[in-house]
Amino acid sequence: MGDGSRLAAEAELAGQLRHAFVAGELTAYYQPQYDLATGRIVALEALCRWNHPLQGLLLPARFIDVAEHHGLISAVGRFMLEESGRQAVDWNRRGAHVGMSINTSPSELSIQFAERLLRRLAELDLPYRSLTVEVTESPAISYSRAEVFALETLIDGGVGVSIDDFGTGAASLQLVRRLPLTEVKIDKSLVHDLRRSIDGLVGTCIAIARERNAVVVAEGVETQEQFERVIHWGCDRAQGYFFSPPLPVADVEPLLLGAA
Ligand code: C2E
Ligand code: MG
Ligand code: MG
Ligand code: MG
Repeated sequence: MGDGSRLAAEAELAGQLRHAFVAGELTAYYQPQYDLATGRIVALEALCRWNHPLQGLLLPARFIDVAEHHGLISAVGRFMLEESGRQAVDWNRRGAHVGMSINTSPSELSIQFAERLLRRLAELDLPYRSLTVEVTESPAISYSRAEVFALETLIDGGVGVSIDDFGTGAASLQLVRRLPLTEVKIDKSLVHDLRRSIDGLVGTCIAIARERNAVVVAEGVETQEQFERVIHWGCDRAQGYFFSPPLPVADVEPLLLGAA
């Protein structure tokens, strides 16, 4: 596809996405996060899905960039906060005291975002400590003073801040040293990379996280070997296909409430 037709296809998808909010086509899937010491589900990561009327279930890779480019990313963020927030309130009331993590795009992060989120949490009556905001460790984000202040505002308000995708950028360790955070998420590319040379980087990351009282989560655990490795590293929690894929409400609920 040439640039012109690619842009036209993007614009068409953006138009459909605008409609998707009112049509109820967006939805949240939830991937369980397991405590490695107890084997229990301690949190869920909410991941956005789009039930496209013609193309079926779309993953974020198909539409998050489009949403960014067409001014729709904060609408996606608000939708996911409402959806996962209500769900967390419901599950908590029914006895499943699990945390909830939501993803944000770099462009969403601002003081106004932090303040709006804290206000909404108060209205939803969700215990603040149960929500964690994941911010990405991508080269696309520089963490200006305003962005750092937004993270501080969230943490002061009792919300968790997780540095997602740790290890994918050149400044990984510096970010873990200097950003306000309560959690670090080790990217699946490190979990899958079985070279021993990774151990040093991960070890340093975990040591800094420990000093900062941050929780360390490994993402993308797919095999027994990777499972054993993240335990060996000393991670606190793990998520990945080895345990469970992201699931719709009806499928994740029995894991939280059933047969315990
Ligand atoms: P992420 O936050 O790093 O999420 C982890 C991704 O890895 C998810 O992909 C998840 O389905 C996938 N995954 C889980 N376990 C495994 C595994 O064992 N192996 C492998 N290979 N992959 C696994 P997904 O759901 O397609 O989301 C991709 C990215 O889209 C997310 O990466 C996040 O950055 C972004 N995203 C998802 N939902 C939202 C949202 O509501 N808002 C924003 N701004 N971004 C979102
Ligand atoms: Mg994430
Ligand atoms: Mg990640
Ligand atoms: Mg990732």
